[in-house]
Amino acid sequence: MAYPRRKTVTTYVGGVPIGSEHPIVVQSMTNTDTADAQATAQQVAELYRAGSEVVRITVNTKDAARAVPEIQARLLDEGLEVPLVGDFHFNGHLLLREFPKTAEVLAKYRINPGNVGAGRYHDQNFLTIIEVAKTFDKPVRIGVNWGSLDQQLLTKLMDENAASPEPKEAREVMIEAMLQSALLSAELAEAHGLGHDKIILSAKVSAPRDLWEVYRRLAARCDYPLHLGLTEAGMGVKGIAASAVGLSVLLAEGIGDTVRVSLTPEPGAPRTKEVEVAQEILSALDLRRFAPTVTACPGCGRTTSTLFQEMARDIQAYLKAQMPVWREQYPGVEGLKVAVMGCVVNGPGESKHADIGISLPGTGEDPRAPVYRDGQFVGVLQGKTIVEDFNRMLDEYVKARYGQREVSA
Ligand code: SF4
Repeated sequence: MAYPRRKTVTTYVGGVPIGSEHPIVVQSMTNTDTADAQATAQQVAELYRAGSEVVRITVNTKDAARAVPEIQARLLDEGLEVPLVGDFHFNGHLLLREFPKTAEVLAKYRINPGNVGAGRYHDQNFLTIIEVAKTFDKPVRIGVNWGSLDQQLLTKLMDENAASPEPKEAREVMIEAMLQSALLSAELAEAHGLGHDKIILSAKVSAPRDLWEVYRRLAARCDYPLHLGLTEAGMGVKGIAASAVGLSVLLAEGIGDTVRVSLTPEPGAPRTKEVEVAQEILSALDLRRFAPTVTACPGCGRTTSTLFQEMARDIQAYLKAQMPVWREQYPGVEGLKVAVMGCVVNGPGESKHADIGISLPGTGEDPRAPVYRDGQFVGVLQGKTIVEDFNRMLDEYVKARYGQREVSA
């Protein structure tokens, strides 16, 4: 691990261990109508195959709750054992009681303490969900959200603050309300018999700097695993950049045991983008490896033709296409480091640092591409088949290095 992780208990979500002893888990959420079991199962399968280790689905109506067992059955028919998390708001206490099969099938219940009812119903409804969780031996995520904060608690803290001789800024009180909402709910759940290791906390906000502050304080005040995510991160590049900034600072401080990147999908864009971005953030921080790392230079005036970009793209596409098979056949292959460089300036140097690397010809250079394996120059590729030849060398390298592990295992 590149960064020491904050110590937590371990919580199991459908067999997936979450906590500091374990790899940081990637999660995602569907945007289909859960009542449409076929469409939801299909999207869950896509997210899971893309690398989402846990998938959350909204359970907002009776039809949605009724569909959950069918969604799971459809996934099992495809051989996919996906830990499904039910996202409950307002009526979770009713749905989980009315649909016990759904309660049993789900691997975790997400409860938003700001959306479980007001007044005396707040604790009553919350504890009904906790009772169901105990009955079926399920963990819960107590997920507080800036946009749906427990109003009763917030009002109380605001009143106390107003009466204090040195009132804090409203933002400070909001943050404290978020923390208290999560921590007091967890305390209440434990007081009613839910295990300490059955609770994950989250406290999502939409600005990276607020996220850092909220999670640093939350991390200091408990040892529950924390689910990280920037809520309403946004669309496209903005959402990706905001999520990367929000998550990576905390992850680099060892905070965060499971992550979700909440991207608003561009029209027609695949839902799996959020999984890809989450994996890239963890990979860039060297916290996990999901696929071979490709170091590709950005190109510059030395690569004015599109030849270099095309070659780099084709090699990366080849690696991506091989991964489903390689992952099965060659355990550890996700740790492979490949360099695809643009010219002689940095190409040979970077290639030597990679497991296998190629320095493609820059503009005006001889159409020759030196190749390095484990830091050693092994030959030059040239002609129209540079990419195919290099891909073949990649195959050989992967087989030789990771295939042996399989045999000896
Ligand atoms: S390796 Fe060559 S082509 Fe790539 S950015 Fe550096 S100088 Fe430019």
